[in-house]
Amino acid sequence: MSALSVAVDYDAITNNVAALAALAPTAKVMAVVKADAYGHGLIPAARAARRGGAHFLGVAQPSEAIALRDAGDEGNIFTWLYGPEVPIDDLVTRGIDLSVSSPDVLGEMICAAREGRGIPRVHICVDTGLGREGVPMASLEALLSLASAAQDEGLIRIVGMWSHLAWADKPGHPTVDSQATNFREALLMASGMDVDIELAHLANSACTLTRPDLHFDMVRPGIAIYGLPPVEDPQGQNFGLVAAMSVTSSLALVKELPGGHGVSYGHEYITPYPTSVGLVTAGYADGVFRAAGGVAEVAVRGRRYPIAGRVCMDQFVIDLGPATEATAGDLVTLIGPGGPSARDWATAAGTIDYEIVCRFGGLRPKTGR
Ligand SMILES: *Cc1c(COP(=O)(O)O)cnc(C)c1O
Repeated sequence: MSALSVAVDYDAITNNVAALAALAPTAKVMAVVKADAYGHGLIPAARAARRGGAHFLGVAQPSEAIALRDAGDEGNIFTWLYGPEVPIDDLVTRGIDLSVSSPDVLGEMICAAREGRGIPRVHICVDTGLGREGVPMASLEALLSLASAAQDEGLIRIVGMWSHLAWADKPGHPTVDSQATNFREALLMASGMDVDIELAHLANSACTLTRPDLHFDMVRPGIAIYGLPPVEDPQGQNFGLVAAMSVTSSLALVKELPGGHGVSYGHEYITPYPTSVGLVTAGYADGVFRAAGGVAEVAVRGRRYPIAGRVCMDQFVIDLGPATEATAGDLVTLIGPGGPSARDWATAAGTIDYEIVCRFGGLRPKTGR
C-alpha cells in the first residue's frame, strides 16, 4: 500500500466524452489525452474516451501517439508538439495525424515523402492570437502555398486546420472573438487557394462548453473529459460531467497533544486546546503542494480537516479535534466524493486544477474503477 493512492473512474471519462459529444452535436470530438491523460493514465483513459465516442485522440508529444498505437488504438490520433528534428517516419507509417506550424517542419515532411517514407497527414496550425504554436497569420499564405503544392504533388495530405485560444476560460474576453475572426480568415484563405480543409478545429474545453458557434468541424476538450470543466455551469450541474480522479491516503498515527503545542516544521500551527492530531502519510514528494500547508483540507470519516502546519516531504498533520473517533489506519480523502475537489486544492495551492491532477496522477500508478 503506497502512501498515496490515485483511483480513476474510467466510466466517468467515457460518460464525460459522451456528454461533451452531445453538447457539440455538429462536431466531432478529439479527446485530449496528453501528459498521461492529465495524470489519469494514457492508455486506459484513451480507451475510455473511445468508448464515449471520441473520433480522435489528441496528444502533445509524438511518443504518446506511438504509445497509443502500440497499445492497439487504430483510430485517428493527432500530435502537435515537436520541432523539425522529430523522427516522423514512424508517425507517418503508423497513420498519425501531424500538426505543422512552420515551413521547417513541413519541409522535413516533404523530404521524407520524396524519399518514399510515406505521405504525412497534416493539420496546419495557425497562430490566431495565442502567441504560442502555429504559423503567424502574416506567414500563413506562404505556408499554405508550400503545403498545397506538396499536396498537388501527392507528397502530403492536408487534413485539417487548427488553432488554440488564449482566453477561452473567460468567455466574454474580446480575444476569443478576434481569434475566431482570424481563424475564419485563415480558412477562407485556404479555400481561396483551393486547399480543402476537412477538419477545422479550435475549441478547447472552455470553448466547447461556452461557444457552440465556435465548434467548427471538431472540438478538442481535455480537462472537461476528466470531469473538471474550467468554466462554471450557469445551471449549477457541472455540465453533466463527473470528476474521474480520486486521491486517498491513510492515517499512520492518531495521538493526543496538549493545548499550545507546535505542529510540524517551524511550528506554524499551534494546537489551540488539548486535541488529537492525525499523521497523514503523504507529502510533497507525493505531489501534495507544500504551499497548501495550513490551507488545503482533507476528509476523514466524512469530516473536513485543514492541514495543520507545514506539509513535509512524506507526511503532514491534521488536527482532528478533542473528541475524534478517527484512528490509525483510517482512510484520508484528499480528492474525491465526500472530500475536497481538485479545484479546492488548486485554490489552496494558488494554481489550476489541471496542475493538481497532472501532479497527483503523473507521479504514480493508477487503479481503475
Ligand atoms: C491542452 C490542449 C487542449 C485541451 O485544453 P483543455 O483546456 O484541457 O480543454 C486542446 N488543444 C490544445 C492544442 C492543447 O494544448
